[in-house]
Amino acid sequence: MTLEIPGWKHTYSGKVRDLYAPADGSASRMLVVASDRVSAFDHVLEPGIPGKGELLTTLSQWWFDQLAGADGGTPVPNHLTGETVPDEVAGRSMIVRSLDMLPIECVVRGYLTGSGWLEYQQSGTVCGISLPEGLQDGDRLPEPIYTPAYKAPMGEHDENISFEKSAELVGADRAAELRDRSLEIYRRAAATAEAHGLILADTKFEFGTDEDGVLRLADEVLTSDSSRYWDAEAWRTGTTPAERMASFDKQIVRNWLAANWDKQGTPPELPAAIVDQTVARYRELLDLLIG
Ligand code: ATP
Ligand code: MG
Repeated sequence: MTLEIPGWKHTYSGKVRDLYAPADGSASRMLVVASDRVSAFDHVLEPGIPGKGELLTTLSQWWFDQLAGADGGTPVPNHLTGETVPDEVAGRSMIVRSLDMLPIECVVRGYLTGSGWLEYQQSGTVCGISLPEGLQDGDRLPEPIYTPAYKAPMGEHDENISFEKSAELVGADRAAELRDRSLEIYRRAAATAEAHGLILADTKFEFGTDEDGVLRLADEVLTSDSSRYWDAEAWRTGTTPAERMASFDKQIVRNWLAANWDKQGTPPELPAAIVDQTVARYRELLDLLIG
């Protein structure tokens, strides 16, 4: 569903966000509105998660501020213009520079789980990177690793790729810049998360370039849609994977769906209890991080 927003016209809806361009036809800025839609395994699910768009926007905005220097680190250029958003979408939208997006999802993993864990069990590697033997689901990696994915055009599945492949796609220098910057931001954010009792297990960044060729951090950052957050204490003391990876993110939805759907056809509707749990966990994350 798209909204009538004076001064803006709807241009695109992704799985989670709706994009609007200035009605005057200028193409340098856009309004990104976060909906309450939730996606898993590349499907948008029903019903949405009430308040999710606002929670994720608050989180993303907070992290952009941290990375712009509020955490004491070197400012990371980002896509925010700092303009006030229209009242209709206050709290769940941002005005950003329209960037030339790079077709790479810059994934950084500090811990082994998800698709990384699946690949590791098959081959002892994650995106071609060899890892030590004997790791378990949820284990911390010796060093955070950069495991890019090709951002497939709409409707297609993103695909894990090697660093070399990313260099073929965007050029060697840009690929190295994406890797180095992603690892640096991950390390910085993981340290902040740790200070709040949280493990940032993994995350995904997207970057784009502006008209001057400056690389800017774009999209949403370090939200519970783009990242896995775990409770640090539960991870240390837990004995089962479920206890160790007490997550503050979409994993609740993914786990329920994996147990209740064969990934054929339309996914089943999410039960109210799963929706409620997800809202509660997202709120908890916000409380822990931002207070
Ligand atoms: P898809 O576009 O395949 O549906 P998605 O589900 O991730 O992917 P959303 O996250 O809902 O899509 O929509 C956000 C879209 O806006 C993404 O395609 C993202 O790459 C793009 N985007 C984010 N920031 C910018 C920016 N500053 N300039 C241009 N595009 C951006
Ligand atoms: Mg997205």
